[in-house]
Amino acid sequence: MNDRGEQMQGSKTVHRLECNVDWPPGNVAAYFVDCAEPILFDAGMAGETAREELTDDLAPHGHEFADIEHLVVTHPHTDHIGQVQAVVDAADPELYAPASVRGRFERDPKSLETTVRTNAQAAGVQGEYLDDAVEMSVESLERDSSLLPSEAVDHWLGRGETIDVGPLTIETVHTPGHQADHLCYLADLGDERVLFSGDMALGTFRPVAMHTGFDEGYEDAIGAFYTALDRLAERDVDRVFTGHDAPHTAFADRVEHDRESLNRLLGRTREALETGSGSTAVDIAFQRSGDRNMEYLVIETASALAHLDGEGVLTSETDEHGVRRYEVV
Ligand SMILES: [Zn+2]
Repeated sequence: MNDRGEQMQGSKTVHRLECNVDWPPGNVAAYFVDCAEPILFDAGMAGETAREELTDDLAPHGHEFADIEHLVVTHPHTDHIGQVQAVVDAADPELYAPASVRGRFERDPKSLETTVRTNAQAAGVQGEYLDDAVEMSVESLERDSSLLPSEAVDHWLGRGETIDVGPLTIETVHTPGHQADHLCYLADLGDERVLFSGDMALGTFRPVAMHTGFDEGYEDAIGAFYTALDRLAERDVDRVFTGHDAPHTAFADRVEHDRESLNRLLGRTREALETGSGSTAVDIAFQRSGDRNMEYLVIETASALAHLDGEGVLTSETDEHGVRRYEVV
């Protein structure tokens, strides 16, 4: 339960809750704003273990899921919406999500399959890998739309909207690129301006530009990511509560770092095409990959190639197998 004295003074303390995940940096965070009407930003990883982890992190602050009055999600990836249903069951909070998620979740699976197959094939994905890519996209749609059921959402949030969430006024900033619907939330805690940033402006690394996966719009991922960084760069933020890594105060530096990282991605993609023997997204992703996840790298590389093509730096041709082959102009 909340401390009554704190409530009367209108204090808002943010507690970081953490779940383990299998990919770098090994954790995902949700943030509990301890105030008159407790707010949770994002809902951690899916599964029983994650539920226990979040519950255990809340307990020392004298709270449980049942206390949450508002739940706000940044984007519909499994590690950010994993416990939405558990919180809804325990607390029946007001639930807020980016408005464009609703349409994405209504995507016809058959049409998604066809589009992903065509685009993954164009990237040079073949055989069982192609079947896996198609299957994974449909599974993600099914999983994520069941983790964040549209009928449970009370407030569909627009892009660049200001809304009161309990005692907190938040401004939504549309930050696509990592994920097309992604919103960051700016809020004034009284003594500082903070950003609940989801997967943007992370402390140590830039998130993969997954945007729409291999669905419609993947060609726009890199351009969208730059637009998101431009939008963020205009803001004054004292502290960032990120979805991975620890909260930090290096907002402007991190935005600049991510911009440089995108520049490097484009530079390396072009260079690989000039110096390597390959001409497809898969060829170039192989040249880039260390021990990182190829699946996501291929999507990001295909988006980088499409971006450079759009800038007139490259030309492309689709061969008789539906594979897009690039060369430097
Ligand atoms: Zn994400």
